[in-house]
Amino acid sequence: MKLYESQAREILHKYNINFPKGEAAASVDEAAKIYSQLGTKRSVIKAQVLAGGRGKGGGVKIVETLEEAKAFAAKLIGSRLITAQTGEKGTPVNKVLVAEAIDIKSELYLAISIDRSTSKITIISSTDGGTEIEEVSAKTPHKISKEQINPLLGVLNFQARQIAQNLNLTGSLATKGSSLIKNLFKIFIENDCSLLEINPLVLTPNDEIVVLDIKIDIDDNALFRQKDSLETQEPSDVSSAESMASAAGLSYIGLDGNIGCLVNGAGLAMATMDIIKLYGGSPANFLDVGGDAPVERVTTAFEIIFTDPHVAGVLVNIFGGIMKCDIVAEGIIHAIKKVDIKVPLVVRLEGTNVEIARKMLDDSKLNIIFADSMKDASEKIIKAVNEN
Ligand code: ADP
Ligand code: MG
Repeated sequence: MKLYESQAREILHKYNINFPKGEAAASVDEAAKIYSQLGTKRSVIKAQVLAGGRGKGGGVKIVETLEEAKAFAAKLIGSRLITAQTGEKGTPVNKVLVAEAIDIKSELYLAISIDRSTSKITIISSTDGGTEIEEVSAKTPHKISKEQINPLLGVLNFQARQIAQNLNLTGSLATKGSSLIKNLFKIFIENDCSLLEINPLVLTPNDEIVVLDIKIDIDDNALFRQKDSLETQEPSDVSSAESMASAAGLSYIGLDGNIGCLVNGAGLAMATMDIIKLYGGSPANFLDVGGDAPVERVTTAFEIIFTDPHVAGVLVNIFGGIMKCDIVAEGIIHAIKKVDIKVPLVVRLEGTNVEIARKMLDDSKLNIIFADSMKDASEKIIKAVNEN
């Protein structure tokens, strides 16, 4: 689960890490109040979205007067921000962070992530932080250093010093930097992070080290023990279909195509998308209804598929192992009646109770195209969608 910058700052606060004063605001009035309370003439207003690249996408601005602060907050709140990471539809901005603007001497990059290839934690650092970090990584990769940390040993002193040195920190800054690195590693472990990225980490003219922007991802498998982060979660950035799906225990990912897919099991769902592509079609979504989908969940799955207006046909591909085909058939019949499906529906069922299921669907007299194999199913749905 990704945290908003304003949420990640709360964690920094708990660990006594230096970051610019400020608060999140959900309205222009609130933003104006925070600006006035800060009392620092120069402030920064930043869109609170889960995507990066806000600076380049017009989501971050230094403001110097109350009017300017209000105008920029008004522009952001309620708008959609498009950045290199959001896709062309952008992502809604419900809140802005109003924070003091920091005098920047240099911008560094520091991130902690899990390196699956070495089964270790990697601390990535660069003296060339800031909004061009992707460019630095692509064009001058030697400017990025990596230090592998044994998760059981943590950051050893010499490693912390090494990273500080990679960041060109010397003297008292090296000492401050080393202890910051250790503290961040503690955050990473104690909060079950899968990513902690600071870009930029800033050096000020008074030789202070300040965390100007932070991104934290918490491992979804550990959310049960990270209740604090869960409580502050605002699902605003997740599309409503995706939040509907997660509430119903379904995995759904919207895609750009027009063939809705309802499948049980992630592997079969991937194979279904592949075969649709292979025969020239384009899937509208990935949807895994899970191993034992009850009737209501299958109905919800159809409702979720139809939240996407581009869906011109649906392919149901179920292998009844744990899940019995007749349960799926019941779900399909229920859903068609409830959701009023107006587009072609191709159904391929295989496995436990398939005959019973087939008979139920036949008897329902609903407009269903049956398919026998994955190939048959994908050819039929593509044909039906093209003719429709
Ligand atoms: P993103 O990474 O999404 O582009 P950042 O928070 O990193 O957003 O902001 C982009 C740039 O804006 C930073 O690299 C920095 O130069 C500037 N910036 C951000 N916050 C502040 C601040 N509090 N004071 C001064 N400059 C800031
Ligand atoms: Mg940043």
